Amino acid sequence: MQTAKYIFVTGGVISSLGKGVLVSSLAKLIQARGYAVTCIKCDMYVNIDAGTMRPTEHGEVFVGEDGIEADQDLGNYERFISQRSTAMHYITTGQIYREVIRRERNLEYNGEDVEVVPHVPEEIIRRITLAGSKSKAEVVLVEFGGTVGEYQTVLFLEADRMMKRSEPENVINIHISYLPIPQSVGEMKTKPVQYSVRTLNAAGIQPEFVVGRSEKPMDKKRKDKISDFCSVPVAHVISNPDVKSIYELPLVLDEQQFGENVLKALKLPLRTKNIAQWKALVAKIQTVKKTVAVGIVGKYYASGEFSLEDAYISVREAIKHAAWAVDRDPVIAWIDAEEFEKKKSSLEMRLKNLSAVIIPGGFGGRGVEGKIAAIQYAREHGIPFLGLCYGMQLAVIEFARNVLGIADAESEEFNAQTKNPVIHIMREQIQKLQKKKYGASMRLGAYPCVLKNNSLAQKAYGVKRISERHRHRYEFNNIYRERCENAGLIVVGVSPDNTLVEIVELKKHPFFVGVQFHPEFLSRPLQAHPLFVGLLQAAKVRSTT
Ligand code: GLN
Repeated sequence: MQTAKYIFVTGGVISSLGKGVLVSSLAKLIQARGYAVTCIKCDMYVNIDAGTMRPTEHGEVFVGEDGIEADQDLGNYERFISQRSTAMHYITTGQIYREVIRRERNLEYNGEDVEVVPHVPEEIIRRITLAGSKSKAEVVLVEFGGTVGEYQTVLFLEADRMMKRSEPENVINIHISYLPIPQSVGEMKTKPVQYSVRTLNAAGIQPEFVVGRSEKPMDKKRKDKISDFCSVPVAHVISNPDVKSIYELPLVLDEQQFGENVLKALKLPLRTKNIAQWKALVAKIQTVKKTVAVGIVGKYYASGEFSLEDAYISVREAIKHAAWAVDRDPVIAWIDAEEFEKKKSSLEMRLKNLSAVIIPGGFGGRGVEGKIAAIQYAREHGIPFLGLCYGMQLAVIEFARNVLGIADAESEEFNAQTKNPVIHIMREQIQKLQKKKYGASMRLGAYPCVLKNNSLAQKAYGVKRISERHRHRYEFNNIYRERCENAGLIVVGVSPDNTLVEIVELKKHPFFVGVQFHPEFLSRPLQAHPLFVGLLQAAKVRSTT
């Protein structure tokens, strides 16, 4: 196979520009032209992966097929191009340093001085090109986290420069930067873009394309200005305005022939374009009128002025995909579980008008009692319910307490001494925690699960055996299995050896399902996840009654 083409994407001026969505959208356009694409995220921090980071600071931890705990941008890649991410799609400074030092200790540099430059960028290049060849992609998009001009980006930019220097025909750069519209001036200013392109130039890189991120579309005058001052053809200056739904962005870019011009710059022929399905989806998103209200009861909200929806981004997107699949416009209510602990009366007020309730994944004891109270309300009032990982575990605890009458039913996660650990630590996890081996040590990644015939879950999936991604240390304690089942909470999904409970559901309820895994990671806009579709179908019925 011919070597792959590489597109490096850097950001400027501010973070949170939606670089991941831009990369995913461009990847979508290239894929729509019949090319095999893959997207890689490079994060500049020294962490080996995102698994040890607080979601309030870094957003959701996205889990790949092989269990890599990665940045949430991988979720965007998966949703836009249906990539199945693995460790090769996620590179951090920590991983690069670790490998360089490991090789030095193994004498793999044959006695050379091991230098920051070129050895560190060389390792970055090795990792990027390895991902390119392993994924068999024809076009590899490489997104650099953060912004140019940050000290920690330097070695990645140097890798980019070195690669471009040695293979100029196979590498291009796209720079995305911010166009503010200061209130007092009232017009869009291009200087910040010019400055950040200059900063990129200082690293020895001239971008082929400049993308202007702004609230409003960029006009011809600004495009000309950026073209003049940043030395890119005007057709290579792309407007990336705010859009109502991120799924509209590929079409906004398509109108500007972004995909075509990128392929031309890479000297790749234009194959037939097929983007009809995506267009149909966007048309539906823009026209669907009837709404459905879904509540997410979580805990990562209490952090100042920032919207922390990012901590549950895949759950939020999975709800949208499923709502669109059942022809509804989703209205998501973000509910802080701790609110119920402080004020019991707010529970009914917040939940009674919802058509579905989701308890997402989580860790630790904060907010747990509020979540359990919400589950009890959903169970007793027939509100369609989906518990994801921690949400499933807490549903089991709620059932044990309020139906089986085991008042002190708990998880060992928040009460290690409990006499009734209906959720207990997985055996193989005990030693890991004792040795403080926290990094990448949970039960992670895709595992198979066998479904029980005629269950809600089995009917939703339409198959008997599924594979879903996991991230947990605790599990359903089988000692309580029979009692739960006899009282109506049945186990309908298990690991193939029948030891690990993967799915529980209530017998007498419109839709009450708890899963030990994270189905949200596999939901796609054009292929909503069966469990979310099941939930939203039940929600739709409820919302019209
Ligand atoms: N904290 C729980 C566990 O470790 C659930 C994890 C999760 O929700 N991802 O088992």
